[in-house]
Amino acid sequence: MIAVSTPIRSIDDLGVEFEKFVVQLNEQRYNQTAGLPYDKKIMELAAETLLGLSSEFLSSYEGPRAFYLDSIERIAQARKLPQTLEIYEKRMSLISSKKFRIHGVPVNWGSWRQFNAQTSNPDDRKLVFDEFISKIPELTSLIIKRFNISRQVYSLYDSSPLDAFLEKEFLSYEKLRDLIFALGDGARMPFLTAAEHYAQEILNKTTFDYYDDFYLARGRIYLSLNKSFEKKNPLTILKSFLSKLSFEKELSLIHVDSEDREKKSPSAFCFGVQIPNDIRVVYKCVSPFSDFTSLFHEFGHALHGTSGNPKDPYWKRYIIPMSVAETFSTFIEMLLQHPPFLQQELGLSKEVTREIIDRRHFMNLYFLVFYSTNSLMKLEFWKREYNPEQASNRFQELSKRFFWEIPGNYWLLHHIMPDYDLYGPAYLLASIRVKEWMTQMIDEYGEEFWKDKRVGTVFRDLATTRGEFDLTVWDMDPKPYLKEQSTFSFLEN
Ligand SMILES: [Zn+2]
Repeated sequence: MIAVSTPIRSIDDLGVEFEKFVVQLNEQRYNQTAGLPYDKKIMELAAETLLGLSSEFLSSYEGPRAFYLDSIERIAQARKLPQTLEIYEKRMSLISSKKFRIHGVPVNWGSWRQFNAQTSNPDDRKLVFDEFISKIPELTSLIIKRFNISRQVYSLYDSSPLDAFLEKEFLSYEKLRDLIFALGDGARMPFLTAAEHYAQEILNKTTFDYYDDFYLARGRIYLSLNKSFEKKNPLTILKSFLSKLSFEKELSLIHVDSEDREKKSPSAFCFGVQIPNDIRVVYKCVSPFSDFTSLFHEFGHALHGTSGNPKDPYWKRYIIPMSVAETFSTFIEMLLQHPPFLQQELGLSKEVTREIIDRRHFMNLYFLVFYSTNSLMKLEFWKREYNPEQASNRFQELSKRFFWEIPGNYWLLHHIMPDYDLYGPAYLLASIRVKEWMTQMIDEYGEEFWKDKRVGTVFRDLATTRGEFDLTVWDMDPKPYLKEQSTFSFLEN
């Protein structure tokens, strides 16, 4: 027999191939999310080619480690595709209300948040919540099947979705678990106090109940601020202060699409189609204050993307730990809770500034207690190999510990938890890191640090490291972040 051996391609050559197809896939996924025509054929072909390239990489190389783990992830995603599509199709029709309608059609999983935002009678919201919870078991086995495929694919390479996450984030299981417990336990009391303060205003009743979820609160807590934001344009303000920080070149690479198209995603997003030269931010006007926060957040992602060094290899430019990606977006977003920034750049009064800070703190605490529940359940789900019943029981138990008891199956109705192997902790880690980073900037450059060109340089230098961002130099102490979010003007004196 004649042995035929293909010469092994170098890592750089493989990277060039990866980038070609990643760009193709990104372009189509962007079109899809932006509500533009897209080509399914190109997507399928690109995904298939990337699957082949990932297998080639894994059979030829053991590093760079980030490239290795990302290749496993690509294979798992390709193998889960049939279930992913099935969940996508079935969820809207199965999770749908018999009794309640919105815009003339039954309220379903996709329009649930809109329904909650518009419905002032709490009893109606409770009925829909209970109905959806009772229907989710029909989808549970499909959701669990996807996780099992991930588990199997990773195990072929002696890893698991949890191990890979921890490795990318430079954390041990114990360290991450303890950090999340500290956040959830620390946020509990101030959160419950603030929830009592805001209940009447946002719920039309005196207390929060299990069906008053995070998204309901987020949709209502900022309504009273809108009048102060109606005449302000977030893009003008972003461009004005970012140019002063010498980001003109980066700003010129960011394409912004604000057109209102029917099939466009309702939430804002940023796509790095090609790093660093083709970065796109997309949004739809929703409500004045939330447009500000989402655009600030997405511009942070966009600046991170435009800061990539074109000379760096594919894997360093494209493969980023999740908490690192969220660090840059969170940094820019957090300027919206820095009082001197709000007063000087947005021209807001002291009173409005105080309202913003209080309400942002309340939502950050709600985020902490809710995402601590989500994240810990998921950590244990992988570590202890929970079955669906154990997972839901644990979710219920953790929610009770951190805020109030919600039906365990709620996690299966969430938009991230059933769809991603592990994502929640990334936001928690990013928030702690950003607090630390911002404190450093204030210490070194003063309260008006966002005006100092040197801060622009610090941001750009950190952003350029992309996949080689040094995760080991941060204290990651949750206390300063917790302390800041727990202050409320209505609790002073
Ligand atoms: Zn983000």
